[in-house]
Amino acid sequence: MSTGRPARILLTFAGICIAAGLLWLAAAWSERNELERLRDAGRHRLDVYTGSLRNAVDRFTWLPFVVSTQPGLVALLRAPQDAVQRDKVNRYLATVNKAAQSNSLYLLDANGLALASSNWDTPLSYIGNNYAFRPYFLQAREGHAGRFYGVGFTTLQPGYFLSYPVRDGERIVGVVVAKVSLDALEHNWRLGGEHMLVADRDGVAFLATDVDWKWRTLAPLPAETLRYIEDSRQYGRNVFPELGLVGRQTIDHDTERAFLQSEARRIDVLMQTIKLPDLDWQIVLLTDLAPVRQVVARAVVGTALGLLALLSWWLFWRQRRRRIRDNLRASAALRQAHDELEQKVAERTHELVDANDQLQREIAERIRTEANLRAAQNELVQAGKLAVLGQMAAGVTHELNQPLTAMRALADNAKLLLERGNTAAVGDNLLHISQLTARMGKITGQLRAFARKSDSVAEPVLVKQAIANAQLLLEQRLRQQQVVLDIRQSDESVQVSCNPVRLEQVLINLLRNALDAVRDQPDAAISVNVLRDDGKVRITVTDNGPGISPEHLPSLFDPFFTTKGDSEGLGLGLAISLSIVRDFGGNLLASNGPNGGACFEVALLAAL
Ligand code: ADP
Repeated sequence: MSTGRPARILLTFAGICIAAGLLWLAAAWSERNELERLRDAGRHRLDVYTGSLRNAVDRFTWLPFVVSTQPGLVALLRAPQDAVQRDKVNRYLATVNKAAQSNSLYLLDANGLALASSNWDTPLSYIGNNYAFRPYFLQAREGHAGRFYGVGFTTLQPGYFLSYPVRDGERIVGVVVAKVSLDALEHNWRLGGEHMLVADRDGVAFLATDVDWKWRTLAPLPAETLRYIEDSRQYGRNVFPELGLVGRQTIDHDTERAFLQSEARRIDVLMQTIKLPDLDWQIVLLTDLAPVRQVVARAVVGTALGLLALLSWWLFWRQRRRRIRDNLRASAALRQAHDELEQKVAERTHELVDANDQLQREIAERIRTEANLRAAQNELVQAGKLAVLGQMAAGVTHELNQPLTAMRALADNAKLLLERGNTAAVGDNLLHISQLTARMGKITGQLRAFARKSDSVAEPVLVKQAIANAQLLLEQRLRQQQVVLDIRQSDESVQVSCNPVRLEQVLINLLRNALDAVRDQPDAAISVNVLRDDGKVRITVTDNGPGISPEHLPSLFDPFFTTKGDSEGLGLGLAISLSIVRDFGGNLLASNGPNGGACFEVALLAAL
């Protein structure tokens, strides 16, 4: 499957969109998480700081009340000019102030004039000053416990003022004021590395860990508030610049997100506020959000790396899948080629098997034909032989009648000689008879061999071996006649298709005739030549005898043709030899050599 170009572009675009979405999600999620973590931590810290602030303030709540119950105070208020009483009260206030660890403790008369003070003996003594404009005085004059945070009118030191009315019976005749410093608290917060401030109900920061934030406002002050602050000389100043919180965004009931804008820079902050309604104050904790940006950056980078890893894995997987697909395609093609080849081989094998079957059938047919032919040939040969035998019958009768007539005469003669008692002559006659029967046996034996149906099977016969065997059997005669056989054979491995015994028989006949021919020859010589000529082998036996006279040549192979005397030849040798050679599909020829001697050639089929 291959994707087109527009589809690929669309896919890439979708991938980029998904990746961007995931990055945005990672950023949003990590930011939300980190903000929540910071908010929770801030809330916890705010609780702790609220506790410490309350503790710093509340432990002095009782002080003006307890001091107001001191009878010496009313006595002085009744007689403000009484120096002794004033001194007593001064010392009393100093002692209590020291013990309570408040900043200062003083007594005002009903008009707000300071009559006695714990710091009576210092240059900054309050005595003689009038504090009628201070809200805490007014609150106490009205019979309440007064609370006020402001900068000291005399000392210019900020502090928390707690006041309580002094009663003479039912009448309020004066006010006791305790001033408490919150400097130590502020100092501690600063040491803790916090960024926070405590503001009054109008949002003026009167306590701040950052010096620069002090006396700044969370929001612009309305004119009447400014006037009130000025009238009450609360903070000893009348300029209150803004803290510089811009872009405020509410996250929660007590949490906002904003930028703290200063001349130098702009900081992204988390602003958490806790209100203290009884004091009319608010504590504001400002947390720098730079770490949030780092966390977000880390999350975005992490997600981007993850996406990159995913992309790399996907590309790798796609490459691998493509490679596997290519391999599969290649192996499928290979398998198909293999199958086609197998099919071709099968078809070819089938054709070959068919051809082979056909060949086998033809061979069988041929063998059958050959066997039939051979049988027919044998029959023909046999028929020929019988015809020859027919011809021979007269000859044989003649041949056998002669010795039979002689034997009868000899036997009759022997009978007479026996009657006469001439046993010696009888013995001679019997010897003759015996010789004649031997000759007759020889004739019948040769005839039997001639007439026998050939059953010899052709086989490869080593010509060299057949010649050697014939030579061995004639060895005695060769030695007697002092004839050395001259055997010439260029290829000694030549074989003919014949029967070894029959071939030897033919060779013996031919050699015996040659020996007969060269008997009276002074330089008798017989040679045997073996020649391979195409598919035939020609064996020639040549002698240097008188040769064959032309008139004998036509009847040379006739049975019982002989030029030799009665006791020497039967005239069957060549006839039998020709019959044997023809049995094996060969031929036997007679001729005279150029030098006068006879030459007989046996031609046989060469064995492959
Ligand atoms: P046999 O040897 O008993 O006479 P064969 O059939 O062998 O009978 O020979 C027939 C005749 O062929 C012989 O009598 C002879 O006259 C002639 N003959 C055979 N071989 C030779 C030869 N090598 N030289 C001359 N004449 C031969």
